[in-house]
Amino acid sequence: MNKFFITFMFSFLFSSRFLSAQELTWMNYANPQEREVFYELISDFEESHPGVKIKLLSVDQGQFGAKINAAFAANEPPDIFYVGPENVRFYVDKKRLLNLTPYVNNVKGADFNDLYPNAVNKYRYDGTTLGKGDIWALPKDLGPFAFAYNKTMLQKAGIRPPSATSPLTFDEFLDICKKLTKDTNGDGKIDQFGTGLNRYFSMIQFIWGNGADYLDESKTKVTVSDPKFIEAVQFWCDLSAKHRVAPNAKEEQEKDPYVRWIEGTLGFFPAGPWDLMAFKTLPFEYDLIPWPIGKDGLKTATWLGSVGYGVSSRSKHPELAAEFALYLSAYKATMQKMTDLDMQIPTLQSLATRYTNKPERPDNREEYIHIIKESGRSWPEQYTYNGAWYFKFFSEFQGVFDGKETAESYCKRIEPKMQRLLDRAGKKQKS
Ligand code: CA
Repeated sequence: MNKFFITFMFSFLFSSRFLSAQELTWMNYANPQEREVFYELISDFEESHPGVKIKLLSVDQGQFGAKINAAFAANEPPDIFYVGPENVRFYVDKKRLLNLTPYVNNVKGADFNDLYPNAVNKYRYDGTTLGKGDIWALPKDLGPFAFAYNKTMLQKAGIRPPSATSPLTFDEFLDICKKLTKDTNGDGKIDQFGTGLNRYFSMIQFIWGNGADYLDESKTKVTVSDPKFIEAVQFWCDLSAKHRVAPNAKEEQEKDPYVRWIEGTLGFFPAGPWDLMAFKTLPFEYDLIPWPIGKDGLKTATWLGSVGYGVSSRSKHPELAAEFALYLSAYKATMQKMTDLDMQIPTLQSLATRYTNKPERPDNREEYIHIIKESGRSWPEQYTYNGAWYFKFFSEFQGVFDGKETAESYCKRIEPKMQRLLDRAGKKQKS
């Protein structure tokens, strides 16, 4: 055999082997610990699927959106990739996603029906309404944004711990915050606050908890001038500007509320499941409670985030890619591995008790499950074609937060501007 022949044979063997092998690319973002688990999951899958190779492309979370768009623009999208509920409409309309409905009940070992229906619904879309119709991605995780309180601080102040299941009213919440707010070293500056909340993540709970919302039922009309909406926003801003139980802009700048919570000088603060790893070392006891409500009889609510596994409509191995997505989302062994590390909440209902029975704090992990089942909601802009109308609300909000403009005056003047942007988004969808 001459050299040429050997080379020929080698490349022939190599290419035929290459053709028979099925290679999938999975693009995501992950922290190092998560990545380690992903590599384990991949090798388990490859072992049970001879000839299958999964290539993991883990990028920085901040760059993920740009990278995925670039991959589609270059016509080389990964087979499996993260899809947030906010992207479902756009991706489906652009025909980027494989419809997973035909696959969900046909993969051995996966228990699709064990997934929280609320979680799956986040990825349903019928061409008009999010939450209805075919399934375009499978939930990777759920992010119930719970409320927490510093147990040690309340104990020291002689305040009875709030109920784990029935929410505080705004008045009760304010009352506790007032008792906790203190200038502990007598230098004229407050160093312990009742709370400190972020307007983008932690104001909507007060709006929902007062029976109001940004949009009406049809998701086509902005409703921020509703008196119940105005009342909630005013209450939320008064916490800082009027009652001084939350840091003002200057105090927030001096020390971020997150840092204040960590060092134990904030009474109430939000806690997502992704915080629990960092909260393991908090120098005080804390626990979860429902978000406050305007008055008795109203319902507590908070947002329930999620990210899902989508499969590219251009995948050369759609069936295999769908199977892998199900393996990641709805296999018990997979989900157990991911939740035992306290990196996330199980997406499978049958694992809820395993999660809530964990000996590590917080005690009231039930609150997360309650949010998933009952009080969790999607962000308002996820129902619309884009979020420009929603973010408009925050464009001139500083004056209200500082107490220089009333919520009533602001909400009434910003509503028509938001409505115009929402109408424009509606038109974009139709075109
Ligand atoms: Ca002080």
